Amino acid sequence: MKLLKADWLITCDEYFTIIENGCVVFGTHIIEYGEFDDIVQKYSNIQIIQTAPNSIILPGLINPHVHLEFSANKTTLKYGNFMTWLSSVIESRADLIEKADSTLIDDEIKNILFSGTTTLGAVSSYGFDIQSCLNTPLNIVYFSEIIGSNAGMIDALFSDFQARLSNALNNKSERFIPAIAIHSPYSVHPFLIRETLKLATQHNLSVTAHFLESNEEKEWLESSSGGMLDFFKNFLNQTQSITKAEEFLNQFKGIENLSFTHCCQANQEELEKIDQLGGTIIHCPVSNRFLTNTTISFDDLRHRSFALGTDGLSSNYSLSLWEEMKNALFIHKNENITELATKLLKASTRGGAKALGMDKKGKIAKDFDADIITVTLPDICDKNNVVLQMILHTKKATKVFIKGEKIV
Ligand SMILES: [Zn+2]
Repeated sequence: MKLLKADWLITCDEYFTIIENGCVVFGTHIIEYGEFDDIVQKYSNIQIIQTAPNSIILPGLINPHVHLEFSANKTTLKYGNFMTWLSSVIESRADLIEKADSTLIDDEIKNILFSGTTTLGAVSSYGFDIQSCLNTPLNIVYFSEIIGSNAGMIDALFSDFQARLSNALNNKSERFIPAIAIHSPYSVHPFLIRETLKLATQHNLSVTAHFLESNEEKEWLESSSGGMLDFFKNFLNQTQSITKAEEFLNQFKGIENLSFTHCCQANQEELEKIDQLGGTIIHCPVSNRFLTNTTISFDDLRHRSFALGTDGLSSNYSLSLWEEMKNALFIHKNENITELATKLLKASTRGGAKALGMDKKGKIAKDFDADIITVTLPDICDKNNVVLQMILHTKKATKVFIKGEKIV
Protein backbone atom coordinates (compact mmCIF):
# COMPACT_ATOMS: atom_id res chain seq x y z
CA MET A 1 0.00 0.00 0.00
CA LYS A 2 1.29 3.47 -0.95
CA LEU A 3 0.20 7.07 -0.57
CA LEU A 4 0.82 9.38 -3.51
CA LYS A 5 0.50 13.11 -2.81
CA ALA A 6 0.48 16.18 -5.04
CA ASP A 7 -0.61 19.83 -5.08
CA TRP A 8 -3.66 18.80 -7.14
CA LEU A 9 -5.82 15.71 -7.51
CA ILE A 10 -8.27 15.51 -10.41
CA THR A 11 -10.65 12.57 -10.03
CA CYS A 12 -12.40 12.74 -13.46
CA ASP A 13 -15.56 11.57 -11.63
CA GLU A 14 -19.15 12.66 -12.43
CA TYR A 15 -18.69 16.01 -10.64
CA PHE A 16 -15.16 16.47 -11.96
CA THR A 17 -13.88 16.89 -8.41
CA ILE A 18 -10.57 18.77 -8.07
CA ILE A 19 -8.85 18.58 -4.66
CA GLU A 20 -6.05 20.92 -3.65
CA ASN A 21 -3.19 19.28 -1.73
CA GLY A 22 -4.67 15.87 -2.49
CA CYS A 23 -3.54 12.31 -2.18
CA VAL A 24 -4.53 8.80 -3.15
CA VAL A 25 -3.92 5.58 -1.20
CA PHE A 26 -3.63 2.45 -3.31
CA GLY A 27 -2.45 -1.12 -3.73
CA THR A 28 -3.44 -2.73 -7.03
CA HIS A 29 -6.74 -0.87 -6.53
CA ILE A 30 -7.56 2.55 -5.14
CA ILE A 31 -8.31 2.37 -1.42
CA GLU A 32 -9.21 5.99 -0.80
CA TYR A 33 -8.40 9.54 -1.83
CA GLY A 34 -8.92 13.04 -0.46
CA GLU A 35 -7.07 15.88 1.22
CA PHE A 36 -3.59 14.84 2.30
CA ASP A 37 -3.85 16.33 5.82
CA ASP A 38 -6.99 14.27 6.58
CA ILE A 39 -5.94 11.00 4.97
CA VAL A 40 -2.36 10.78 6.24
CA GLN A 41 -3.51 10.66 9.88
CA LYS A 42 -5.25 7.32 9.24
CA TYR A 43 -2.11 5.54 8.09
CA SER A 44 0.99 5.22 10.23
CA ASN A 45 4.12 3.84 8.53
CA ILE A 46 2.65 4.06 5.01
CA GLN A 47 5.08 4.66 2.14
CA ILE A 48 4.54 8.27 1.01
CA ILE A 49 5.42 9.10 -2.59
CA GLN A 50 6.19 12.79 -2.99
CA THR A 51 5.82 14.75 -6.21
CA ALA A 52 7.42 17.97 -7.44
CA PRO A 53 5.64 21.29 -6.73
CA ASN A 54 2.69 22.01 -9.09
CA SER A 55 2.12 18.32 -9.79
CA ILE A 56 -1.28 16.84 -10.53
CA ILE A 57 -2.55 13.31 -9.83
CA LEU A 58 -5.11 11.97 -12.30
CA PRO A 59 -6.31 8.65 -13.72
CA GLY A 60 -4.22 7.17 -16.54
CA LEU A 61 -5.40 8.32 -19.98
CA ILE A 62 -7.35 5.89 -22.15
CA ASN A 63 -6.98 5.98 -25.94
CA PRO A 64 -9.63 3.64 -27.35
CA HIS A 65 -8.71 3.83 -31.05
CA VAL A 66 -5.26 3.34 -32.65
CA HIS A 67 -3.88 1.26 -35.54
CA LEU A 68 -0.38 0.27 -34.41
CA GLU A 69 0.32 -1.67 -37.62
CA PHE A 70 0.33 1.63 -39.52
CA SER A 71 2.90 3.24 -37.21
CA ALA A 72 5.56 3.49 -39.94
CA ASN A 73 3.71 6.27 -41.73
CA LYS A 74 5.17 9.74 -41.28
CA THR A 75 4.89 11.57 -44.60
CA THR A 76 3.99 8.83 -47.09
CA LEU A 77 0.19 8.99 -47.06
CA LYS A 78 -1.68 11.80 -48.78
CA TYR A 79 -3.94 14.06 -46.72
CA GLY A 80 -6.58 16.63 -47.70
CA ASN A 81 -9.24 14.41 -49.29
CA PHE A 82 -10.65 11.10 -48.08
CA MET A 83 -10.52 9.24 -51.41
CA THR A 84 -6.99 10.48 -52.15
CA TRP A 85 -5.94 9.29 -48.70
CA LEU A 86 -7.66 5.90 -49.12
CA SER A 87 -6.00 5.33 -52.50
CA SER A 88 -2.61 6.23 -51.00
CA VAL A 89 -3.22 3.69 -48.20
CA ILE A 90 -3.95 0.95 -50.78
CA GLU A 91 -0.85 1.94 -52.76
CA SER A 92 1.59 2.09 -49.81
CA ARG A 93 -0.01 -0.40 -47.42
CA ALA A 94 2.38 -3.29 -48.09
CA ASP A 95 5.49 -1.09 -47.63
CA LEU A 96 4.18 0.57 -44.47
CA ILE A 97 3.16 -2.72 -42.88
CA GLU A 98 6.57 -4.23 -43.63
CA LYS A 99 8.38 -1.23 -42.12
CA ALA A 100 6.29 -1.44 -38.93
CA ASP A 101 8.31 -4.26 -37.38
CA SER A 102 8.08 -5.09 -33.69
CA THR A 103 10.94 -2.71 -32.77
CA LEU A 104 9.10 0.22 -34.33
CA ILE A 105 5.76 -0.73 -32.74
CA ASP A 106 7.44 -1.30 -29.33
CA ASP A 107 8.93 2.22 -29.56
CA GLU A 108 5.54 3.77 -30.35
CA ILE A 109 3.93 1.94 -27.43
CA LYS A 110 6.71 3.25 -25.15
CA ASN A 111 6.00 6.81 -26.34
CA ILE A 112 2.32 6.26 -25.59
CA LEU A 113 3.13 4.97 -22.11
CA PHE A 114 5.52 7.84 -21.28
CA SER A 115 2.84 10.33 -22.35
CA GLY A 116 0.59 8.95 -19.58
CA THR A 117 -1.78 6.68 -21.51
CA THR A 118 -2.29 3.48 -19.51
CA THR A 119 -4.97 1.76 -21.62
CA LEU A 120 -5.13 1.39 -25.38
CA GLY A 121 -7.75 0.11 -27.81
CA ALA A 122 -5.57 -1.36 -30.56
CA VAL A 123 -7.34 -2.16 -33.84
CA SER A 124 -5.37 -4.92 -35.54
CA SER A 125 -5.91 -5.66 -39.23
CA TYR A 126 -3.30 -8.40 -39.62
CA GLY A 127 -2.29 -9.58 -36.15
CA PHE A 128 1.31 -8.40 -36.72
CA ASP A 129 1.19 -6.19 -33.61
CA ILE A 130 0.12 -8.89 -31.16
CA GLN A 131 3.56 -9.63 -29.68
CA SER A 132 4.20 -5.95 -28.91
CA CYS A 133 0.74 -5.73 -27.33
CA LEU A 134 1.46 -8.79 -25.19
CA ASN A 135 4.88 -7.52 -24.09
CA THR A 136 3.88 -4.04 -22.92
CA PRO A 137 2.72 -3.31 -19.36
CA LEU A 138 -0.12 -1.17 -20.82
CA ASN A 139 -3.68 -2.49 -20.66
CA ILE A 140 -4.60 -3.45 -24.21
CA VAL A 141 -8.06 -4.07 -25.60
CA TYR A 142 -7.04 -5.89 -28.76
CA PHE A 143 -9.59 -5.50 -31.58
CA SER A 144 -9.11 -8.18 -34.24
CA GLU A 145 -10.54 -6.50 -37.34
CA ILE A 146 -12.70 -7.95 -40.10
CA ILE A 147 -12.71 -6.27 -43.53
CA GLY A 148 -13.97 -7.34 -46.96
CA SER A 149 -17.08 -6.56 -49.02
CA ASN A 150 -16.60 -9.09 -51.84
CA ALA A 151 -19.09 -11.97 -51.49
CA GLY A 152 -16.72 -14.36 -53.30
CA MET A 153 -14.02 -13.86 -50.67
CA ILE A 154 -16.19 -14.34 -47.57
CA ASP A 155 -15.01 -17.81 -46.57
CA ALA A 156 -11.31 -17.00 -46.88
CA LEU A 157 -11.69 -13.69 -45.03
CA PHE A 158 -13.72 -15.21 -42.24
CA SER A 159 -11.33 -18.08 -41.64
CA ASP A 160 -8.36 -15.67 -41.56
CA PHE A 161 -10.27 -13.53 -39.05
CA GLN A 162 -11.14 -16.55 -36.90
CA ALA A 163 -7.49 -17.61 -36.76
CA ARG A 164 -6.42 -14.11 -35.61
CA LEU A 165 -9.23 -13.89 -33.07
CA SER A 166 -8.51 -17.31 -31.64
CA ASN A 167 -4.81 -16.39 -31.27
CA ALA A 168 -5.91 -13.31 -29.32
CA LEU A 169 -8.34 -15.34 -27.20
CA ASN A 170 -5.58 -17.84 -26.36
CA ASN A 171 -3.49 -14.98 -24.99
CA LYS A 172 -6.28 -13.36 -22.97
CA SER A 173 -5.15 -12.05 -19.59
CA GLU A 174 -6.12 -9.40 -17.07
CA ARG A 175 -4.34 -6.79 -19.17
CA PHE A 176 -4.73 -8.20 -22.69
CA ILE A 177 -8.41 -8.25 -23.57
CA PRO A 178 -9.51 -9.61 -26.95
CA ALA A 179 -12.24 -7.70 -28.81
CA ILE A 180 -13.68 -7.32 -32.33
CA ALA A 181 -13.51 -4.48 -34.89
CA ILE A 182 -15.84 -4.33 -37.89
CA HIS A 183 -13.93 -2.07 -40.28
CA SER A 184 -16.88 0.00 -41.62
CA PRO A 185 -20.32 -0.24 -43.26
CA TYR A 186 -18.87 0.21 -46.75
CA SER A 187 -16.09 -2.34 -46.42
CA VAL A 188 -17.56 -5.37 -44.59
CA HIS A 189 -20.13 -7.73 -46.10
CA PRO A 190 -23.29 -8.04 -43.94
CA PHE A 191 -22.78 -11.80 -43.73
CA LEU A 192 -19.32 -11.28 -42.21
CA ILE A 193 -20.75 -8.73 -39.79
CA ARG A 194 -23.44 -11.17 -38.66
CA GLU A 195 -20.98 -14.02 -38.14
CA THR A 196 -18.36 -11.92 -36.32
CA LEU A 197 -21.00 -10.40 -34.05
CA LYS A 198 -22.16 -13.91 -33.15
CA LEU A 199 -18.61 -14.56 -31.93
CA ALA A 200 -18.64 -11.27 -29.99
CA THR A 201 -21.81 -12.35 -28.17
CA GLN A 202 -20.53 -15.87 -27.58
CA HIS A 203 -17.25 -14.66 -26.02
CA ASN A 204 -18.69 -11.45 -24.50
CA LEU A 205 -16.29 -9.19 -26.45
CA SER A 206 -16.35 -5.42 -26.92
CA VAL A 207 -17.03 -4.32 -30.50
CA THR A 208 -16.00 -1.22 -32.43
CA ALA A 209 -16.54 0.07 -35.98
CA HIS A 210 -15.64 3.11 -38.06
CA PHE A 211 -18.89 4.86 -39.04
CA LEU A 212 -19.67 7.68 -41.50
CA GLU A 213 -16.20 9.19 -41.51
CA SER A 214 -16.53 10.98 -44.87
CA ASN A 215 -19.14 12.49 -47.15
CA GLU A 216 -18.05 9.99 -49.83
CA GLU A 217 -18.98 7.14 -47.48
CA LYS A 218 -22.39 8.71 -46.84
CA GLU A 219 -23.13 9.14 -50.56
CA TRP A 220 -22.04 5.59 -51.31
CA LEU A 221 -24.21 4.09 -48.57
CA GLU A 222 -27.21 6.24 -49.48
CA SER A 223 -27.14 6.05 -53.26
CA SER A 224 -24.14 3.99 -54.47
CA SER A 225 -22.75 7.16 -56.02
CA GLY A 226 -20.12 9.85 -55.41
CA GLY A 227 -16.38 9.59 -54.90
CA MET A 228 -16.46 5.99 -53.69
CA LEU A 229 -18.07 4.65 -56.87
CA ASP A 230 -14.85 4.81 -58.93
CA PHE A 231 -12.88 3.32 -56.07
CA PHE A 232 -15.22 0.33 -55.77
CA LYS A 233 -15.40 -0.11 -59.58
CA ASN A 234 -11.62 -0.05 -59.98
CA PHE A 235 -10.48 -2.03 -56.97
CA LEU A 236 -13.40 -4.41 -56.32
CA ASN A 237 -15.49 -4.46 -59.50
CA GLN A 238 -18.47 -3.40 -57.38
CA THR A 239 -21.07 -0.77 -58.35
CA GLN A 240 -23.61 -1.14 -55.55
CA SER A 241 -23.21 -0.50 -51.83
CA ILE A 242 -23.77 -3.68 -49.81
CA THR A 243 -25.69 -1.96 -46.99
CA LYS A 244 -27.32 1.26 -45.78
CA ALA A 245 -26.25 3.16 -42.66
CA GLU A 246 -29.39 2.20 -40.73
CA GLU A 247 -29.22 -1.48 -41.71
CA PHE A 248 -25.60 -1.49 -40.58
CA LEU A 249 -26.41 -0.05 -37.15
CA ASN A 250 -29.34 -2.45 -36.68
CA GLN A 251 -26.96 -5.39 -36.80
CA PHE A 252 -25.35 -4.35 -33.50
CA LYS A 253 -28.45 -4.82 -31.32
CA GLY A 254 -27.63 -6.70 -28.14
CA ILE A 255 -23.86 -6.02 -28.16
CA GLU A 256 -23.00 -4.89 -24.67
CA ASN A 257 -19.85 -2.78 -25.14
CA LEU A 258 -20.00 -0.91 -28.39
CA SER A 259 -18.25 2.08 -29.95
CA PHE A 260 -18.38 3.90 -33.28
CA THR A 261 -15.40 5.96 -34.44
CA HIS A 262 -15.75 9.29 -36.31
CA CYS A 263 -19.54 9.62 -37.05
CA CYS A 264 -18.69 12.95 -38.79
CA GLN A 265 -21.57 12.61 -41.26
CA ALA A 266 -24.09 10.91 -38.96
CA ASN A 267 -27.49 12.63 -38.86
CA GLN A 268 -29.66 13.01 -35.74
CA GLU A 269 -31.52 9.73 -36.37
CA GLU A 270 -28.28 7.81 -36.69
CA LEU A 271 -26.84 9.41 -33.56
CA GLU A 272 -30.00 8.55 -31.63
CA LYS A 273 -29.78 4.99 -32.93
CA ILE A 274 -26.22 4.81 -31.53
CA ASP A 275 -27.58 6.09 -28.20
CA GLN A 276 -30.28 3.40 -28.20
CA LEU A 277 -27.64 0.75 -28.85
CA GLY A 278 -25.70 2.07 -25.85
CA GLY A 279 -22.77 2.91 -28.14
CA THR A 280 -20.00 5.41 -27.37
CA ILE A 281 -18.76 7.77 -30.08
CA ILE A 282 -14.98 7.86 -30.44
CA HIS A 283 -14.02 11.31 -31.63
CA CYS A 284 -10.69 11.61 -33.53
CA PRO A 285 -10.58 15.31 -34.46
CA VAL A 286 -7.01 15.42 -35.81
CA SER A 287 -7.59 12.51 -38.17
CA ASN A 288 -10.85 14.14 -39.29
CA ARG A 289 -9.05 17.44 -39.95
CA PHE A 290 -6.41 15.70 -42.06
CA LEU A 291 -8.64 13.44 -44.15
CA THR A 292 -11.98 15.18 -44.62
CA ASN A 293 -11.85 18.56 -42.87
CA THR A 294 -15.21 17.83 -41.31
CA THR A 295 -15.83 16.48 -37.85
CA ILE A 296 -18.78 15.77 -35.59
CA SER A 297 -20.22 18.98 -34.15
CA PHE A 298 -19.56 19.54 -30.46
CA ASP A 299 -23.30 20.11 -30.03
CA ASP A 300 -23.72 16.43 -30.96
CA LEU A 301 -21.12 15.34 -28.39
CA ARG A 302 -21.89 17.66 -25.48
CA HIS A 303 -24.67 15.60 -23.91
CA ARG A 304 -23.38 12.18 -24.92
CA SER A 305 -20.74 10.01 -23.41
CA PHE A 306 -17.94 10.24 -25.93
CA ALA A 307 -14.30 9.24 -26.00
CA LEU A 308 -11.28 10.87 -27.57
CA GLY A 309 -9.00 8.77 -29.80
CA THR A 310 -5.92 9.50 -31.86
CA ASP A 311 -6.61 6.98 -34.66
CA GLY A 312 -3.35 5.59 -36.11
CA LEU A 313 -0.23 7.29 -37.42
CA SER A 314 -1.80 6.66 -40.83
CA SER A 315 -3.89 9.78 -40.11
CA ASN A 316 -2.12 11.58 -37.28
CA TYR A 317 1.38 12.85 -36.44
CA SER A 318 1.20 11.68 -32.80
CA LEU A 319 -0.44 8.99 -30.68
CA SER A 320 -0.46 11.25 -27.60
CA LEU A 321 -3.87 12.17 -26.18
CA TRP A 322 -2.34 15.46 -24.92
CA GLU A 323 -1.74 16.47 -28.54
CA GLU A 324 -5.25 15.31 -29.46
CA MET A 325 -6.81 17.36 -26.62
CA LYS A 326 -4.69 20.41 -27.50
CA ASN A 327 -5.76 20.27 -31.15
CA ALA A 328 -9.39 19.69 -30.20
CA LEU A 329 -9.31 23.00 -28.30
CA PHE A 330 -8.67 24.75 -31.61
CA ILE A 331 -10.91 22.58 -33.77
CA HIS A 332 -13.99 23.24 -31.59
CA LYS A 333 -13.25 26.95 -31.51
CA ASN A 334 -16.76 28.13 -30.60
CA GLU A 335 -16.72 26.37 -27.23
CA ASN A 336 -15.72 28.03 -23.96
CA ILE A 337 -12.12 26.90 -23.64
CA THR A 338 -12.03 25.99 -19.93
CA GLU A 339 -15.29 24.00 -20.13
CA LEU A 340 -14.10 22.29 -23.30
CA ALA A 341 -10.79 21.35 -21.61
CA THR A 342 -12.73 19.60 -18.84
CA LYS A 343 -14.94 17.71 -21.32
CA LEU A 344 -11.92 16.62 -23.34
CA LEU A 345 -10.12 15.29 -20.27
CA LYS A 346 -13.25 13.38 -19.25
CA ALA A 347 -13.46 11.94 -22.78
CA SER A 348 -9.79 10.89 -22.51
CA THR A 349 -10.36 9.03 -19.24
CA ARG A 350 -13.91 7.89 -18.32
CA GLY A 351 -15.10 8.20 -21.92
CA GLY A 352 -12.37 5.86 -23.13
CA ALA A 353 -13.12 3.39 -20.34
CA LYS A 354 -16.78 3.28 -21.35
CA ALA A 355 -15.93 2.85 -25.03
CA LEU A 356 -13.79 -0.19 -24.18
CA GLY A 357 -16.22 -1.67 -21.65
CA MET A 358 -13.92 -1.18 -18.65
CA ASP A 359 -16.03 -0.28 -15.67
CA LYS A 360 -13.17 -0.06 -13.12
CA LYS A 361 -10.97 2.37 -15.04
CA GLY A 362 -10.87 6.05 -15.98
CA LYS A 363 -11.39 7.78 -12.65
CA ILE A 364 -9.89 8.09 -9.20
CA ALA A 365 -12.52 6.31 -7.10
CA LYS A 366 -12.60 3.69 -4.36
CA ASP A 367 -12.06 0.13 -5.67
CA PHE A 368 -11.10 1.34 -9.15
CA ASP A 369 -7.90 -0.03 -10.72
CA ALA A 370 -4.85 1.92 -9.55
CA ASP A 371 -3.98 3.16 -13.07
CA ILE A 372 -2.70 6.54 -11.96
CA ILE A 373 -0.42 9.17 -13.49
CA THR A 374 1.10 12.43 -12.38
CA VAL A 375 2.02 15.40 -14.53
CA THR A 376 3.87 18.53 -13.44
CA LEU A 377 3.04 22.10 -14.44
CA PRO A 378 5.86 24.63 -14.90
CA ASP A 379 4.42 27.04 -12.28
CA ILE A 380 1.51 27.74 -9.92
CA CYS A 381 -1.99 27.69 -11.38
CA ASP A 382 -5.56 28.74 -10.53
CA LYS A 383 -8.04 25.93 -9.84
CA ASN A 384 -10.34 27.02 -12.68
CA ASN A 385 -7.46 26.89 -15.16
CA VAL A 386 -5.65 23.78 -14.03
CA VAL A 387 -7.12 21.39 -16.63
CA LEU A 388 -6.59 23.79 -19.52
CA GLN A 389 -3.00 24.57 -18.47
CA MET A 390 -2.28 20.87 -18.06
CA ILE A 391 -3.46 20.20 -21.62
CA LEU A 392 -1.41 23.12 -22.97
CA HIS A 393 1.82 22.28 -21.13
CA THR A 394 2.01 18.49 -20.83
CA LYS A 395 4.03 16.31 -23.16
CA LYS A 396 4.93 13.51 -20.75
CA ALA A 397 3.68 12.11 -17.48
CA THR A 398 6.10 12.42 -14.56
CA LYS A 399 4.94 9.16 -12.95
CA VAL A 400 2.87 6.26 -14.29
CA PHE A 401 1.35 3.46 -12.19
CA ILE A 402 -0.58 0.57 -13.73
CA LYS A 403 -2.53 -1.59 -11.27
CA GLY A 404 -0.44 0.05 -8.57
CA GLU A 405 2.89 -0.91 -10.09
CA LYS A 406 5.28 1.94 -10.86
CA ILE A 407 6.08 1.82 -14.60
CA VAL A 408 7.59 5.31 -15.10
ZN1 LIG B 1 -9.34 4.19 -37.39
